[in-house]
Amino acid sequence: ELHSNKLVKSCESSKREMNSSLNEDEFLTALKEAIKGQDIEVYFQPKVRCDSGTLEGFEVLARWRHPTEGFINPELFISLCEIHGLIDLLTMQVFEKALAWLSSLDENHITDSEIPCELRWTKLSINISAQSLSNDILFSNIIDKCKSLDISPSRITLEITESSAMDDSGPVLENLTRLRLMGFELSIDDFGTGYSSLLQLVKAPFSEIKIDKTFVLKADADTQSRAITKSITDLGRSLETQVTAEGVESAATMDFLKHIKCHLAQGYFIGRPMPQADILNWFYERERSREKERLDALRALE
Ligand code: C2E
Ligand code: MG
Ligand code: MG
Ligand code: MG
Repeated sequence: ELHSNKLVKSCESSKREMNSSLNEDEFLTALKEAIKGQDIEVYFQPKVRCDSGTLEGFEVLARWRHPTEGFINPELFISLCEIHGLIDLLTMQVFEKALAWLSSLDENHITDSEIPCELRWTKLSINISAQSLSNDILFSNIIDKCKSLDISPSRITLEITESSAMDDSGPVLENLTRLRLMGFELSIDDFGTGYSSLLQLVKAPFSEIKIDKTFVLKADADTQSRAITKSITDLGRSLETQVTAEGVESAATMDFLKHIKCHLAQGYFIGRPMPQADILNWFYERERSREKERLDALRALE
């Protein structure tokens, strides 16, 4: 019930946003068609190490471009998928498209020596709804896909988003443990908001915490958000769990994260979510500006 209230609200605000004349049925029909027709697109948003600035990997984000309405807010169509039993189909499509890109990097490397090592060996983070956690078939499919493309599970992080209280009973914990033992990394997404809890963090074998962007976005301006961001980072460090801050929009936030020894950063300041065709350009442009920064720092010393 809580869920559908949230959906109705987000549907309404999203319709206002896009001034849509579509009703919910038409919307759902179009979404089903997009999923069936393999029309869900994947965008990639970079994650970098805070200390060295090197590329760690990309988070894969689903995009749906409605034929007449344009891009639809992911929070909206993801919750529609969850409610109408489409989420596992969507996850599999996102997973397949993202992995296809990863294995194309490997293949192209042989003919195209331009692909730098950092990109060639990049990691990927894939979002998984908490609701999928008890689905054995989905996980078998994910494991098979990695095997058939010869991609090591250690390059894949599964980000688990809490949209409802996580069922921490047998099958869920079993599935999480099985995935972890196979080598997948597990991340608890949007930590500090919603239903994610300390209990889950200790019980399940998570290897990463993602600090929710609501704290990180305000870390420049607001002392409370800074305190929360630092506390979650300290917590992750003492549990020996990697910490990623999402929603890094400024140089000042990046400096703060370095200062508190957060491991990884993701946000518009580093790079927006982008289609795969833009990734190489983004990479080289960033390398150029890092090189320039290094030279400027050297000159300042002279
Ligand atoms: P999330 O997993 O927490 O992803 C991070 C969201 O923050 C993304 O929103 C990203 O575009 C946005 N973001 C990143 N950096 C910044 C920044 O510096 N400033 C601001 N203001 N925002 C930033 P997006 O792409 O709209 O996705 C929203 C949510 O939809 C995701 O949140 C995730 O929960 C869900 N989602 C997206 N793709 C998938 C998917 O393939 N499967 C599932 N199950 N959920 C997905
Ligand atoms: Mg995520
Ligand atoms: Mg998040
Ligand atoms: Mg989220």
